[in-house]
Amino acid sequence: MSAAILDRILSSDGSKYPADFQQIIDLMGGARSIGESAEDFVWRAYSFGKKAHQGQLRKSGEPYFTHCVEVATILAEMKLDSVTISAALLHDVVEDTGYTRKDVEKEFSEELARLVDGVTKLSDMKFRSEEDKQAVNFRKMLLSVADDIRVIIIKFADRLHNMRTLEHLPAVKQRRIARETRDVYAPLAHRLGMYRIKSEMEDLIFNILEPKQSKELEKLIPKRQAFFEKYVQKFLEPVKERMEKTGYHATYKSRFKSHYSIFRKMKDQNRPFEDVYDIYAVRIIVDQVEACYSVLGFIHSLYTPIQERFKDFIAQPKSNGYQSIQTTVVGPNGFPVEVQVRTKEMDDTAEEGVAAHWQYKERDDKTAQDDIDQQVTWLRNLVDILQTEDKTTSHQFMDLLKIDLYKDEIFVYTPKGEVRILPLGATPLDFAFDVHSQVGLHCIGAKVNGRIKPLNSGLESGDKVEIITSDSQKPNSSWLKFVQTSKAKSNIRKWIKGQEFEQSVRLGKEILEKELRKIRKAKEWKHLKDPFLTLKFDSEEKMIASIGSGHRTVSSILTKFFPEEYAKPQKAKSDTSLAESFLNRARRNTKGVSIQGIDNMMISFGKCCNPIPGDPIVGFITRGRGITVHQKTCETVGTNLLEKERIIDVDWAAARAQTFLVRLKVLAQERKHLVRDVTEIISAYDINIDTLSMKVDGDVVTGLVIVEVEGVKQLDRLKSKLLASDGIISVERE
Ligand code: MN
Repeated sequence: MSAAILDRILSSDGSKYPADFQQIIDLMGGARSIGESAEDFVWRAYSFGKKAHQGQLRKSGEPYFTHCVEVATILAEMKLDSVTISAALLHDVVEDTGYTRKDVEKEFSEELARLVDGVTKLSDMKFRSEEDKQAVNFRKMLLSVADDIRVIIIKFADRLHNMRTLEHLPAVKQRRIARETRDVYAPLAHRLGMYRIKSEMEDLIFNILEPKQSKELEKLIPKRQAFFEKYVQKFLEPVKERMEKTGYHATYKSRFKSHYSIFRKMKDQNRPFEDVYDIYAVRIIVDQVEACYSVLGFIHSLYTPIQERFKDFIAQPKSNGYQSIQTTVVGPNGFPVEVQVRTKEMDDTAEEGVAAHWQYKERDDKTAQDDIDQQVTWLRNLVDILQTEDKTTSHQFMDLLKIDLYKDEIFVYTPKGEVRILPLGATPLDFAFDVHSQVGLHCIGAKVNGRIKPLNSGLESGDKVEIITSDSQKPNSSWLKFVQTSKAKSNIRKWIKGQEFEQSVRLGKEILEKELRKIRKAKEWKHLKDPFLTLKFDSEEKMIASIGSGHRTVSSILTKFFPEEYAKPQKAKSDTSLAESFLNRARRNTKGVSIQGIDNMMISFGKCCNPIPGDPIVGFITRGRGITVHQKTCETVGTNLLEKERIIDVDWAAARAQTFLVRLKVLAQERKHLVRDVTEIISAYDINIDTLSMKVDGDVVTGLVIVEVEGVKQLDRLKSKLLASDGIISVERE
C-alpha cells in the first residue's frame, strides 16, 4: 500500500498527515535514517500499527493505538532515532495482535523486529509472587540491555504512559503497578541517568501510593512557586549583567524540584513544607566547558557559597554519565539557592541519560558511543555478579540490585591516585572487593589518608585508601551487615557457602568413617564402585556433605548397601545423636536454650553466627539434627526464612552457668606492651583466654583472641574496655 493511499484513508482534515503523527515528526526534527526517509519509515510503522490494533480499545475507551502513539511521542521528545520510534509504534503488535516478529521483519527490518521482540519478551511471562515477578522482570530487563539498550528505553516510555493513564484501572491494580514502577523502573531509570522520566514516574507513584500527602503538597506548592519565580529573577539579575559584559552566551532554566523529591526532603529533614528550602534550582547552560568555570567564578563573587555543597561533576562525572557543576550559595534575603552550571550536551545527558547518548551517537559522536558502552558494560557486570549467586532468592536479588541502583556515589583514590567510584556509605571492605575479590577476602583493615581504620568505617569522597591484607584473615557473616556494594556482598556469601560445604564434607567424612568402623564395613565400602550414583548424588563429595549438613542420616545412606546391619532398628546407635555430638564439640554444652515448652530437643548452634547468651536468637528446625539456634540477624536464617513453618521461637534459659567460646579479631596500631595490656584487660574480667595470637606487620598489628565468656553483656563490656585502650582500632566478633 503506498503512502498516498494511506493518506486518504487516515487523514480526514485535508492536511497531509493525522495530527498525532505530525507531532511525532515535528518533535523528531531531522532524525537520520538510511535509505528511505525517516518520515516515510515512521509513517509506514504508524499505518501498520493503526491497522493491526484496529478495533482494540483501552480501558479508557480510547482506541488502543493511541497508547502506541503516545509512547512514540515520548521517545520523539527524547530525540531518539526513527527505528526506535517506529518500534514504539509497533511495540504491542506482536503481543496483542495476530502479527508475528517475522511479519514485522518482512515489512520493515530485522533491527526493528528485534526491538519489538525485545519489548514483547519483557512483558510476557507469568509469575508466582510479587517479589518473584520483580526479580524476574529485572533480570530480563538487564539482560535485554546486552542486546540493545533501546529496548529498555522503549519499555520505560511504555511504562511512563501506562502510569500517566492509570486512573482507568481498579485501585488495587493501580497500587500494584505503582509499586512495581517504584521498585523496578524508577531505580533503573535513575541508574541510566534518565532523570526526567524517573522524576515524572516518581511523582505519579507518589500520587497513587501517598494520595493524602500528595494532595496536601499540591495545595501548598503554587504560592511558594509564585514567590520563587520572582525571587529567581532578582537572583539572576546581577549574574546576567555580568555575563553580558564578558560576552558569554547562556540560557537560564529554573524550576521547582518534583513533588516526590520535596516530599522526601520533608521526610528526611523531618520538617514541614515551609521549612524546607532546597526545593528549587537555577540552571545556567553555556556553550563551552571552560565557560562553566568562569560562570562559577561570577556566582561565587556575587554570592557567598556554602562550602560543603559545592560539587564538580564535570571533572569527575557520575557513573551514569551525569556532568554538571553544582553549588549552593546564599541569595538575596539569605535564602540558599542551588545553582547548576553545565553545557547543552551535559544538560541533555542529565535529563535523558543513556537516551541522550544515543542521540549524540547518531551524530557520530565518538565519546557518546563510549558512554553507552560503559553503561552496557556496567549493567552486564551487574548481571554477571547476580548470576553467580546460585539460588539467590528473589528477595536477595532485589536487595543487591537496589544497592547498586539508588545510592549516591563517592570518589576515592588508590595509593597510585586512580579514582574508584563507590556508593555512599561504602567501607574499606567495599573498596577492597572493588579492587579484587582476593583482596577483599583477606582484607583486615585499611589506611585511610595514612591512618589505620577498621573494616566497617565509612569512606568519604577524596579519601586515599590503602588496603591492609592478612593471609590469616577470613570473611565472616558479620561482614554482610556493613558492606554496601553488591560485589562485596555476593563475594562474601559465595565464600561462606563454600566454607559451609567444606565443613559439611569434613564432618560427614568423620561420621561416615566412624559408622563404617562400628558396623565393620570399612573395607567393603572402599570396594563399592561409586556408591553415590546409586543414591542419585552428583558426586561423592556431595553425598558426604549431605551427612555432615544433616540433610541425610548416615544410616539412610549405608542401609542401601548393608541392609542387614540396619534390619533391627535398635541395633545401631542413632546416628543423629552421633552427628549432634560432633556438632557440639566446639561448644561445651547445648543446654541453656529453652524452646516453647518442649523438652529434650536436640539443639545445636549455627556455626555461621555463633550465638551466645544475650544475642537475640531464633531456632530453625533442620532435617535430621534437631534445632539449630542462630542469631536473629544471621544471614543463614534470612535465606531460610522463606520456609516459615521451620522457624521456631527460642529463648535463652534463665540458668547460664556455662561459658561460650568467642573469637575476636583485633586490629591495632603497633605500640609497646600491647599484648601485655590486652591480656591484663581480659584477665581483669576474670575471663579465660583460650588463644591469643598477635601478628605485627609494619605499624599494623592483627590479632586473634579466643575467650570464654558468659554472654553478650560481658563480651560488650570487654570489647569497649579493649577499644578504650591506646592504639586498638577495632575488635570484631566472628
Ligand atoms: Mn504498551
